[in-house]
Amino acid sequence: MTHRIVVLGGGYAGLTTAKRLGRLLPDAHITLVNERERFVHRILLHQAAAGRDLDAPRLADLLRGTNVELVVGRAAGIDVERRQVAVVGAERRNSPSRAAPRPPTKQGGVSVTTEGSADTASPGSSSRSRVPQGAETTGATSIGYDSGTPRGASSPRVPQGSEAVIGYDTLVYALGSVGDMTRVPGVAEHAYGVSGRDEAAALRDAVARNDSGTVTVVGAGLTGAELACELAGRHPRARVRLVSRGEAGGWLSPRGKRHARAAFRRLGIEVMSGVGVTAVKDGAVVVDGGSVADSDVTVWAGGFTAPPLAAEAGLDVDGLGRIPIDDTMRTLARPEIYAIGDSAAFTSRHGNELRMACAAAIPMAWHAADVIAARLSGRSVPPFHFRFVQQAIGLGPGDGLVQYVRPDDSMVNAVLTGRTAARYKDFVCWFVAKTLPHTGPYTPRRRHPMLPRPQVPVG
Ligand SMILES: Cc1cc2nc3c(=O)[nH]c(=O)nc-3n(C[C@H](O)[C@H](O)[C@H](O)COP(=O)(O)OP(=O)(O)OC[C@H]3O[C@@H](n4cnc5c(N)ncnc54)[C@H](O)[C@@H]3O)c2cc1C
Repeated sequence: MTHRIVVLGGGYAGLTTAKRLGRLLPDAHITLVNERERFVHRILLHQAAAGRDLDAPRLADLLRGTNVELVVGRAAGIDVERRQVAVVGAERRNSPSRAAPRPPTKQGGVSVTTEGSADTASPGSSSRSRVPQGAETTGATSIGYDSGTPRGASSPRVPQGSEAVIGYDTLVYALGSVGDMTRVPGVAEHAYGVSGRDEAAALRDAVARNDSGTVTVVGAGLTGAELACELAGRHPRARVRLVSRGEAGGWLSPRGKRHARAAFRRLGIEVMSGVGVTAVKDGAVVVDGGSVADSDVTVWAGGFTAPPLAAEAGLDVDGLGRIPIDDTMRTLARPEIYAIGDSAAFTSRHGNELRMACAAAIPMAWHAADVIAARLSGRSVPPFHFRFVQQAIGLGPGDGLVQYVRPDDSMVNAVLTGRTAARYKDFVCWFVAKTLPHTGPYTPRRRHPMLPRPQVPVG
């Protein structure tokens, strides 16, 4: 039977791993599930929130020429026992160029071939097909494959009314992260986020409406600091305030801190360090001790968390909802499930937990693809060599900070600043965007013929 790999999440990690798997394993059936049809360049969202245009390429275009099937829809549940994913609003959006042959449908199962699917559309053409509803007794539809499990019995993890159920042999969980808007009262109702495209667009519009009002950015980590600088640089009439429970920019080295503080001053950002926000209200934030500060627009950049799907599926997760993984990117309890990017919790051999970063998500994605391909073709699993070398931070138009780090991600008192650092950061973002359509600069050219039956536990 053709090995079915389902990748959940078409962000930096999921897209990269799906494409690389497609190249390494042309005989596998690879499906990428993403809730939107367009790729979101999250590392540029603070710029989009400040009014800059953001390129949003179609995932189908980024997958052109690969054997990766794109399903646009929201993954709503994972049944880890039956190895199925429920997807709401599922639509196939491309025609994989080298679709693997479909396996025969098993007794009792329903295999749906949709109009314009990989089976019927001409190679390279773009297709969109609505997956028919109600093809199964559960009210769900199987995309392409029979999952091999008996129908009719209810599945506790797959919500009723889901439009599609996709079976997998290997699952790659790459759903990223979202702003943690639940821990402080009023944040979900009254604050803007910056972790998604819609959130950034809503924030951009709110700031444009309050161009000379007060904008409060809560959280002075990398995202909050970049956002405050970008907003202050592009909206000079606005009063931008940066509120931080710890010292603003406190994670940086002494030199890094000095430069960041100078940038905040230059941009007129009002920094409130050592202040916790205890509630957000309409038009105000409440801080420690109960004082209230007016705020026309409040942005929550006070931490990120992984989506709840893994926990809901009964997988072990850490306090941020991330799945702990080993150095092959595999979950500790389920050998057929891998996790990468912001949704994964990985402690490196240097002892540090990888922070949520695009800079980590992409190497994790390359590695997961290489490991899965190696396991399925009976080759030895490559080691994971990754360490951060720096943090590149934009400090508004024309200024930046490159903070160098040790292998364990602790700060070295060495930085690059100013226009050169800003150019470097722009180059990194440009480079990421340019290389996304490819499978990674170090992809081995050879393909991995899969074993008829895997000799090692697959996942
Ligand atoms: C404003 C901002 C600036 C940043 N700047 C930097 C930086 O300079 N450098 C850096 O290294 N990192 C930066 N980051 C962090 C970086 O963006 C993330 O670490 C990176 O996006 C993680 O990649 P990922 O693939 O794990 O997740 P994501 O890029 O978030 O991708 C997850 C994908 O899964 C999809 N998805 C989620 N839930 C579902 C579902 N239920 N069903 C289907 N699809 C779903 C999402 O739509 C998304 O496409 C920044 C983040 C922000 C918000």
